[in-house]
Amino acid sequence: MPELPEVETVRRGLAKAMEGRRINQVVVRRTDLRRPLPENFSEALTGRTITQLVRRAKYLLIHLDDGTVVLAHLGMSGRMVIEQGTDAEVPARKHEHIAFAVGNGTVIRFSDPRRFGLMDLSTEEGLSTHPLLASIGPEPLGDDFNGAMLAARLKGRKTPIKSALLDQRIVAGLGNIYVCEGLFMAGVSPRRSAHTIGPARAERLVLETKQVLRDAIEAGGSTLRDHVTATGEMGYFQHNFKVYGREGEPCPTCKKPVKRIVQAGRSTFFCASCQR
Ligand SMILES: [Zn+2]
Repeated sequence: MPELPEVETVRRGLAKAMEGRRINQVVVRRTDLRRPLPENFSEALTGRTITQLVRRAKYLLIHLDDGTVVLAHLGMSGRMVIEQGTDAEVPARKHEHIAFAVGNGTVIRFSDPRRFGLMDLSTEEGLSTHPLLASIGPEPLGDDFNGAMLAARLKGRKTPIKSALLDQRIVAGLGNIYVCEGLFMAGVSPRRSAHTIGPARAERLVLETKQVLRDAIEAGGSTLRDHVTATGEMGYFQHNFKVYGREGEPCPTCKKPVKRIVQAGRSTFFCASCQR
């Protein structure tokens, strides 16, 4: 599943290809994605100009010149591929559900074999109350995600810190991989009860999590599956994980073997000696 750095990498690729361009044609082949595609989807987009592409959590927000905003989520297996000089009406690969022909001969193709991805329509004013966005917490790379805020949100919570950080209402867009890595870098045990994280530990956790995300974005996003970025390149950050996916391998700090446990149905990788 693409995590935040992959989505940010896709956003950067798409922004280059789409911003300032007019949408000439939208070809819809399937409407039964995770949510049904709005009936007026292609009608609402055709002829509009894309003003900017932004990311909120793991959603791509495509802003159009009339105030319409397209919400897109890649789900588990969604891909966006940019092509030059091809025909949007001819699918380029299996499971291609939507193709956008924009100015300058560029075609953006959305494919998603498992169809957990989605596209929906909103308006600029309606974004903050859109059902998919209304209850999600602050951006992990934004100033609103800081030690004081995190410590306040963890107060009274008896769940393990690992589960709390995956809760999208506390902080948006963090997934299993980067939570494991952030906890390792901050020296915090994933099993520690969330309410025992005071302001100092929370601050360290926030700073390290931001750094892990920034490093991943810089590396072009990781690829555990065959996730391809918007420009068709594969990410390559997966080799740089310190603990994620490294059960039994030596901890980079103390050389004791990395442990794997299952928390809330997800694998957690950590060093029992470095993380307290
Ligand atoms: Zn260690």
